[in-house]
Amino acid sequence: MSVPAPAPAAATTSTAPSTGPVLAPDVPATMRASVLLRQGEVEMQERPVPTPPPGEVLVRVRAVGVCGSDVHYYKAGRIGDFVVEQPLILGHEVSGVIAGVGEGVDPSRIGERVAVEPQRPCRTCRQCTTGHLNLCPDMKFYATPPIDGTFCDYVTAPAEFAFPIPDALSDNAGALLEPFSVGMWAVGKAQLAPGSRVLIAGAGPIGALTAIAARSYGATEIIVSDPVASRREQILGFGATSAVDPLDPGFDPAALGVDAFIECSGATPALLAGLKALRPGGTAVMVGLGAEEMPIPVQEVMNKEIVLTGIFRYVDTWPKVIAAAQAPGVDLDALVTAEFPLEEAEAALTQVPGESSLKTIVVVSR
Ligand SMILES: [Zn+2]
Ligand SMILES: [Zn+2]
Repeated sequence: MSVPAPAPAAATTSTAPSTGPVLAPDVPATMRASVLLRQGEVEMQERPVPTPPPGEVLVRVRAVGVCGSDVHYYKAGRIGDFVVEQPLILGHEVSGVIAGVGEGVDPSRIGERVAVEPQRPCRTCRQCTTGHLNLCPDMKFYATPPIDGTFCDYVTAPAEFAFPIPDALSDNAGALLEPFSVGMWAVGKAQLAPGSRVLIAGAGPIGALTAIAARSYGATEIIVSDPVASRREQILGFGATSAVDPLDPGFDPAALGVDAFIECSGATPALLAGLKALRPGGTAVMVGLGAEEMPIPVQEVMNKEIVLTGIFRYVDTWPKVIAAAQAPGVDLDALVTAEFPLEEAEAALTQVPGESSLKTIVVVSR
């Protein structure tokens, strides 16, 4: 049985939890949405603005980062077992302004600038109740079929996953807190500590954000490998202390003996070199999506008792990345190398990235 939603009331200055949805007076009935109809076909559509359910907020979207996963869904129509079988709104790296609250949420949050953690775990399964909500089998995650993402004017999110961001962080930086969270979770898994030495493979956006995260954990040596010279040059501005060419015949990974290796390229040779580069007892973390299967140098892993793990999204990283993004010398805006308006989201997905391209932002509103 469906119960009609109560009519939204106008925003008030009350700080008590609302007893029904409260929307800012300027929230329209419909909105623009950039919809992936099927593999390789995007269309602008008019969609109803969602009503925030109990415990959630309505966010007017400002900036959305374009992720490799969005491009992959556009080009291939699937990522592994996740298949686009019905029209899907892409985008999950999002910042905006709270424009409404659902029942039980303080209406004084309307107007707050926020960055959204794009997960909706079930909160009751064994993974959720033991602190591993990123592994929830019933996870609803923006832009992972069949859950719509954020290439649109308004989205809803759990109130506690809409994190207030300070004026010091731009809308673009707010959107980049999502990929920054990937890097932060990876360095946590790698057990970095003050004085750690780490090798990161891949100087793309995730490699750069991982290098920045490594620095925030106190790593003192952050070596990034990438075969592209301009990327090696660029990464020195994003936390790396040195950059190496893995194709250089003089590069000997075994001589590095690093505490941790974080694989952000998806390239099989990079994984193999990284395992060689670890000291005995070191930790390897797989972040980059590459081949579905890779050979593992068994002796290397066994004789050095290497801890080899992957990451899947993140848990409780937003407070860390909001703090780390404001640290001296950190400038997430510098990662943005292209911007497109919402109407041109398809162009954002199909642009041919240059060698020094890092992040593309879809600007939904300002
Ligand atoms: Zn992403
Ligand atoms: Zn769960």
